[in-house]
Amino acid sequence: MSRLIARSCGGGNNGNVRLLVVEDEVKMANLLARGLREEGHAVDLADRGEEALWMARAAPYDAIVLDVMLPGGDGFSICRELRDQKVWTPVLLLTARDAVDDRVVGLDAGADDYLVKPFSFSELLARLRALRRRVPAERPVVLQVGDLRLDPAARLAWRGDAELALSAKEFALLELFMRRPGEALSRLALLEGAWDMAYESRSNLVDVYVRYLREKVDRPFGRHSIETVRRVGYRLREDGG
Ligand code: CA
Repeated sequence: MSRLIARSCGGGNNGNVRLLVVEDEVKMANLLARGLREEGHAVDLADRGEEALWMARAAPYDAIVLDVMLPGGDGFSICRELRDQKVWTPVLLLTARDAVDDRVVGLDAGADDYLVKPFSFSELLARLRALRRRVPAERPVVLQVGDLRLDPAARLAWRGDAELALSAKEFALLELFMRRPGEALSRLALLEGAWDMAYESRSNLVDVYVRYLREKVDRPFGRHSIETVRRVGYRLREDGG
């Protein structure tokens, strides 16, 4: 029965949840694997940090359950390394100590959630479901406008085959443009969209950054994709210039 429920509710779009469980304690690892498989999930096991890194890069897992205490690199450093290598699979950390420091370190290392041992299996399942629900919103598909492409999750952008080296603000600005191609966006809308804090509206920050962006996205390619719209702001041409 639980298998049927897991298949119909837990699987998201493709109906098949594939998990990587990283845990060196054999008993615990087998317990986790058996329980998760009973819920209808496909489970691979790794018991060492380097093995986990290799597997996470090699296969498209839906989530990684990662123990903090491991031989060959603790869970924090594994998580950080995954993110450094642009692996964005949701990570649920298992920590043995209920220390705030551990949780903070884990979340700062790029983990999505954590669970303190000992935990109930139903809580683990609930947190994995929550992670799965969050994934689509946090990892939208690659945006494309003409030959401009932008991957918000991987923080990468390209003009044709050329990868663009953008600062964080330039990236945010380009993402705003690419989410609304062909639309005239006011300076205020761009300011609010790309900068977290409220800046004075008379600030010329947007103009400065649009100039930076043009230097990287347009000029080297002989394009004019970011147009000035008089008395309003700027617009990304629908054909990507
Ligand atoms: Ca362990």
